Amino acid sequence: MTVGGITYSSFSGWIDPPAEVVPALEGELTCDVAVVGGGYAGMAAALRLAERGADVVLLEAEFCGFGASSRNAGQLSASPAGDPQLLGALHPHRLRDIVRFAQGSVRFTEELLDRLEIDCEYEPTGNVGAAVSRGQLQKVRRIAQILQKAGADAEFGDGRELGLPEAFLGGLFEPLGGLMNPGKFARGVREALLGSGARVFERTPVRAVEPTSAGVVVSVPGGRVRAERVVLATNAYSRDLAIAPKRLATPIWVRMVETEPIEPERLEATGWTSRAGIATKHNIMESYRLTPRNTIVFGVRRLQVGRGALETRGPDPAAVADLARGFRSRFPSLRGVALDRTWGGWIAMTSPWLPVAGEATGNVFYAIGCNGHGLAQAPYLGTLLADRLAGDELHDDLSAVWRAQPRFAPTPISNPLALRAMWMIDRMSDRLHGRKG
Ligand SMILES: Cc1cc2nc3c(=O)[nH]c(=O)nc-3n(C[C@H](O)[C@H](O)[C@H](O)COP(=O)(O)OP(=O)(O)OC[C@H]3O[C@@H](n4cnc5c(N)ncnc54)[C@H](O)[C@@H]3O)c2cc1C
Repeated sequence: MTVGGITYSSFSGWIDPPAEVVPALEGELTCDVAVVGGGYAGMAAALRLAERGADVVLLEAEFCGFGASSRNAGQLSASPAGDPQLLGALHPHRLRDIVRFAQGSVRFTEELLDRLEIDCEYEPTGNVGAAVSRGQLQKVRRIAQILQKAGADAEFGDGRELGLPEAFLGGLFEPLGGLMNPGKFARGVREALLGSGARVFERTPVRAVEPTSAGVVVSVPGGRVRAERVVLATNAYSRDLAIAPKRLATPIWVRMVETEPIEPERLEATGWTSRAGIATKHNIMESYRLTPRNTIVFGVRRLQVGRGALETRGPDPAAVADLARGFRSRFPSLRGVALDRTWGGWIAMTSPWLPVAGEATGNVFYAIGCNGHGLAQAPYLGTLLADRLAGDELHDDLSAVWRAQPRFAPTPISNPLALRAMWMIDRMSDRLHGRKG
């Protein structure tokens, strides 16, 4: 659908849905492990279990890669989720573990791309947590020190040293990771999974997961699966399953916009010589990245809580206009560049703002909530959980995010007024900076 010259995609701007979807499950079957959800986490878990010889079944409501995994910004980032300042002050050891998990995730995902020979236009540019105001610059300096102390490969630099466009005064450069087409990555993992020993059923929404004395029963509209163990990899959609821990994740709608192709000379004139992905240090970040098709993809700025059914949201010209205002103010030299398309997706925000995994109840496990960092972290988490189910000791990186009890505190992020207030504070600080700068 096109509104105001901008195409609203109901899926993703990166790829089209698969031409052929695997038929839904009809009837009954048994297996060692049933994985619910075919995003990066679920696909990686099922692939690893199949590689290790387990009899694994994956059940996906739409098609593998339907969710955030094909819709994200494609910034493969080593930045840990959560607030490093808070974690560093209260739980320095935990921060060290989370940093190690985040860096291990990027290395793992790079190796996965190589091993599965997935061409997803990967560019190892690194990413920058960037500042657009003096206040953000101070914050970034502080975070750089905290992360370095926690073992992160991260360095502070000014905007010119880091090869950033002029509006970005400086930032925290993380050389690990870079940029990719996340839709092609998801499609590549799906192809590897379909070629593995795993049995995959698409268009198969799981309605209920019920532990019994003889294993776990997973019910779908056309039948059921009896599994010894179950992995929930349902990300933002988890709250629809009664078995998932209460308050495990709040679904938040996040939107991306892509420009039309821009002449290479005009892109060069922005000063973005490093091509590194950018995420600002607002309360709610703005993200900007270049693509091989000479466009800029940008997004977030607003977080919208999901109430009711998690359907793809329709056209939202006000949200796109807000993102466009951010883009125009960060790239004044690109005046006149038109916006071509927009899409969005559901991310899962957990109450600790960190990825989490654990056992929901007897033999039902979950791996979830990479809080907008799942491009690297979700496939790693899925794989680590698979290794655990295949009999390995708890890996140090899995132990960093493992919950002993499936209990989660309420989170302010589920309050739309709190999100609106965060957005307003960001805009006030932008205006203040604009007057001074
Ligand atoms: C717009 C946007 C931008 C983002 N940008 C970045 C970024 O630049 N870098 C980064 O690291 N991360 C980013 N993220 C986050 C990242 O995409 C996610 O963390 C990651 O994809 C999560 O993977 P997943 O497998 O856990 O979940 P998903 O990909 O959401 O997969 C969950 C799957 O479960 C299926 N499902 C749910 N319920 C059921 C059920 N009952 N039965 C069967 N199937 C079910 C869904 O259909 C879906 O396919 C972004 C996310 C969005 C939306």
